[in-house]
Amino acid sequence: MSLKSRNAVVTGSTSGIGLACARALAQAGANVMINGFGEAAAIEKERAAIEKDFGVRCVYSGADMSKPAEIAKMVADAGAAFGSVDVLVNNAGIQFVSPVEDFPVEKWDQIIAINLSAAFHAIRAAVPGMKARKWGRIVNIASAHGLVASPFKSAYVSAKHGIAGLTKTVALELATFGVTVNCISPGYVWTPLVEKQIPDTMKARNMTEEQVKRDVLLAAQPTKQFVTVDQVAALAVYLCSDAASQITGTNISMDGGWTAA
Ligand code: NAD
Repeated sequence: MSLKSRNAVVTGSTSGIGLACARALAQAGANVMINGFGEAAAIEKERAAIEKDFGVRCVYSGADMSKPAEIAKMVADAGAAFGSVDVLVNNAGIQFVSPVEDFPVEKWDQIIAINLSAAFHAIRAAVPGMKARKWGRIVNIASAHGLVASPFKSAYVSAKHGIAGLTKTVALELATFGVTVNCISPGYVWTPLVEKQIPDTMKARNMTEEQVKRDVLLAAQPTKQFVTVDQVAALAVYLCSDAASQITGTNISMDGGWTAA
């Protein structure tokens, strides 16, 4: 499937699912703006590798997804660099695990800003161009936690449920403009985000690392296997294809059967 002549922005793409989505979109022929935090040299290496591996243009934005003005500028910069933003993948996300009564207020605000409001700000900035060109693809990376809850993740679960609602609303608004809006809801994907929450979960539940993996993470996933970043990226690329033009407003689970239970 070809996304040649399409231009994409993938938020939070210096790592994990976002990086896999950026590489998969580039492999399909799209120019890509990557975004996210990390060491400058490592980010430059990833950026240059995308250009070299796939023969597309790849630019980097260091926009902080908790800052609305920086998000608007990121989308404008991508438009200026490529001529348009045709594909937007809202992927940046963070996690924090704590009982609700101890949940730090600033962590709540940060998670809502990065995991939910950032998608609103990026969509708001990208939609006028997509509407005018009558083509666009918006893919929001939600989570199984956009459908069901787990204890100690109040902010994350709230933000992901919010993303599912935002997806449906914007899909309806753009249905006649050739713009589709969907979310992908992965179960546990083996990425730095999952790895980093293990120590906090060990503390919150008084468990060893192996117990957290087996009894908390993969306990919910009937296949007993982690989802891979490449599997999520392949679905994102499919949703960007013309074959998926009638798929809009959906929330597609990729969770090894978790939410079937
Ligand atoms: P990750 O930690 O590997 O990557 C997160 C990316 O977001 C990084 O590039 C990071 O630099 C970027 N980021 C974080 N804060 C940012 C900010 N303020 N501004 C800009 N960029 C920022 O995480 P991941 O596991 O690849 O997660 C990606 C998305 O997938 C998240 O929205 C997450 O909630 C979702 N998700 C992950 C899993 C999983 O099991 N890993 C499951 C379901 C959903």
